[in-house]
Amino acid sequence: MLLFNAEFLREEFDLVDRKLNKIVNATATIKEVLFEKNTVVTSVYRDDPDSTHYYYRAVDLRSRDLTEKQCKKLEKIINQLFPYGKKPYQTMLYHNSGSGWHFHIQVRAEHDEEV
Ligand SMILES: [Zn+2]
Repeated sequence: MLLFNAEFLREEFDLVDRKLNKIVNATATIKEVLFEKNTVVTSVYRDDPDSTHYYYRAVDLRSRDLTEKQCKKLEKIINQLFPYGKKPYQTMLYHNSGSGWHFHIQVRAEHDEEV
């Protein structure tokens, strides 16, 4: 099941790229089947034009309910199923960008001049 860390995130999630919406929902289903855990959205829009979050093409998901090994497995599966399509980028990143470890899921712009 896809859950939201705050109610405003649900409203922001309604605005995300359609393909991203599908990948996030697929990720939630895969995570539930493999690890019997729900998926929590922790961040959607960010006011930074250098970030895919700015274009509603990225969503962050909680990772702390899984082990590191499970996180890496999920990252590998999602990137195999849904390749980003533009090197060196990947659809799912399991990373710590300064605010703690989490999953970042992104999709590519339809027009390549964007981030
Ligand atoms: Zn992110």
